[in-house]
Amino acid sequence: METADRSDAPAIADDLAPAGPVVVVLDGPAGTGKSTVSREIAARLGLSFLDTGAMYRAMTYWLLENGVDVEDADAVAVASGKPVVRSGTDAAGPTITVDGVDVSGPIRGPEVTAAVSAVSAVPEVRTRMVELQRGSAAAAPVGIVAEGRDLGTVVFPRADLKVYLTASAEIRATRRAAQLGVTDAAGITAILLDIERRDAADSGRATSPLAKAADAVEVDTGEMTPEQVVDRIIALVHGRVAVPVDRSRRS
Ligand code: C5P
Repeated sequence: METADRSDAPAIADDLAPAGPVVVVLDGPAGTGKSTVSREIAARLGLSFLDTGAMYRAMTYWLLENGVDVEDADAVAVASGKPVVRSGTDAAGPTITVDGVDVSGPIRGPEVTAAVSAVSAVPEVRTRMVELQRGSAAAAPVGIVAEGRDLGTVVFPRADLKVYLTASAEIRATRRAAQLGVTDAAGITAILLDIERRDAADSGRATSPLAKAADAVEVDTGEMTPEQVVDRIIALVHGRVAVPVDRSRRS
């Protein structure tokens, strides 16, 4: 039997053949530093960045603004089809808009933070957000670093790298307080209680999103600086996929 002479053709192993965009996901509870760390990793690797919590917050903000009872799951399900939530995924300047209006400030307010877990437990909301999140990844020129709660388990089950960040509730509360400029003991305690409430709400029910994927690498950030977390995850990325040059290390 005659075979073509392929000796000069480079051998490309199937698992090295170019696939779709690189997808790196970071999941974990509130206050583990997911946003800061993910954005820095994306910037350094030349990838897009997606904060999925901001999307659920944007939806919640719109519902509150439009007088929808966020504790009424049916009302939320019906109304959630109306707002147009868009995420700008440039790691150098991510944006979040609802119906074309920048909501990056108001979505961090206490009203939204108090209501977002109830809104994000509504299946219709999740279906819509997951579709948008997959669309952002598909549109990313090189790849994306996305952070949230259910990205490794539900949204991107075939991600190139899945990381699950943890830290004790006390450490997370202290970090959040520092970010918000809160220094008094009562303020820090209120933040801790809010974090514990959201941990429970985001992981306590069948429809709750927070879960560690079986194939995720767990990183306990409790004793680490954000820079150390970034370096560790970038090393993990390099171990899995070929991505553009680490920009922060260019001379
Ligand atoms: O990450 P962040 O604290 O901004 O997320 C706000 C809320 O959005 C979470 O408490 C959770 O209820 C919801 N969320 C979610 N699924 C995600 C990301 C966030 O349900 N992938």
